[in-house]
Amino acid sequence: MGPDRFHARPRGEFGKSWDLQKSYVAMTAPYYKPLIACPKAWCAGTSGPKSASVMLITAKDSAALDQYKGKLAGKILIPDLDAVYQQSFTPDAYRWTDQQLDSMAKLPMRPVDTAEMRRRRAQFNRGALAFQNALKSFAQQEGAVAILSESPRGHDGTIFVQGGGSYQPSAPENFLDIVTSFEDYMTIVRLLRAGIPVSIDADVKTKFLTDDTKGYNVIAEIKGADKKLKDEIVMLGGHLDSWHSATGATDNAAGCAVMMEAIRILKTLGIQPRRTIRIALWSGEEEGLLGSRGYVKKTFADPANMQLLPEHGKFAGYFNIDNGTGKVRGIYLQGNEACRPIFTKWLEPFHDLGATTVNVSNTGGTDHQSFDAVGLPGFQFIQDEIEYSTRTHHTNMDSYNHLREDDLKQIATIVAAFVYNTAQRDEKLPRKPLPEPRPAGRGAF
Ligand SMILES: [Zn+2]
Repeated sequence: MGPDRFHARPRGEFGKSWDLQKSYVAMTAPYYKPLIACPKAWCAGTSGPKSASVMLITAKDSAALDQYKGKLAGKILIPDLDAVYQQSFTPDAYRWTDQQLDSMAKLPMRPVDTAEMRRRRAQFNRGALAFQNALKSFAQQEGAVAILSESPRGHDGTIFVQGGGSYQPSAPENFLDIVTSFEDYMTIVRLLRAGIPVSIDADVKTKFLTDDTKGYNVIAEIKGADKKLKDEIVMLGGHLDSWHSATGATDNAAGCAVMMEAIRILKTLGIQPRRTIRIALWSGEEEGLLGSRGYVKKTFADPANMQLLPEHGKFAGYFNIDNGTGKVRGIYLQGNEACRPIFTKWLEPFHDLGATTVNVSNTGGTDHQSFDAVGLPGFQFIQDEIEYSTRTHHTNMDSYNHLREDDLKQIATIVAAFVYNTAQRDEKLPRKPLPEPRPAGRGAF
């Protein structure tokens, strides 16, 4: 039994699609070793199989790149790296203790975007990022084959793989950037430092698609039954897009699955909600919450001018899941204190399932922020940290095996209850004061 209505709705321009069709990367000298490696998204391929010698890049700023002029053609580059492997003495997966949850509940609101954060971001953009981009465009001009990169969080063969540059329809194909496991990366660096030549065979085939450059959200709803409230909306959602080095089971098939399960639970119970319940599976979350931002802008308000559309007044609340497989331990208020007594009450029946905590703070980085940005109540739940930041988030390990069925069932049950309660209460959920308009490019959002 499906929801009443279902459609995939374009929410605006996205850009090029990209398909990784082949990726073979192995060290062939001084000895043979398959490498744990994956190209970043939206990168060009190798134009057929290549055998390349690997060159250690010791330059640390763009000015020092001149020394490589005329020397990079046909080479694979590896930037030198001074990094010491950090063993992990804490488990990859853990559940919040009662004590941790208790202190979480007492925490004050976390600042969203402080001057210090902006300063550090600007410093990174001017420094490391600018150098990386300069090196890549220089390498491309010089006819190099690829560059190897690693992530500071990579360990034990887990690689963190995201985008390798622009996906605008008019943008050129990005220079091939291959994320390599920390261990493989440092093996190559050590060999080259010792003056031992390293060769790599690489055959990477990628495909760009420009036939449809729109982004789509998947939307479905259960119509409200109350004469007065049926035009008001309660929403729940997660994002459907994921990164390509695995199937994206925890980021964020888990969120989509529990949201669909919450809808299935409500349908199966034959509930006639007072307000309309609408589920959204967003696209383009990983590129900056594009799906939910596009939807919010079209439906409720544009944060740039804060001119409210009629639907803004009919919106009751939004609930999001996007922190992996770990069960719900509570909810973040996103600074909306007026919701504390309401959510505290709603969590009561779930204390024996471990969900107890109401935290005033905000949690960032995902789709509820698109609602929050236009003054609508949007929330995300507190989840146990089951290998999410350590092992699965944007990695080659984000596969079905890392999901925990019982945790997901618990999440779906609690989400279904929160959505139902929001649909049934006499008033919409309380809101924070409307934010000031934020013209594009200003602030964290
Ligand atoms: Zn995500």
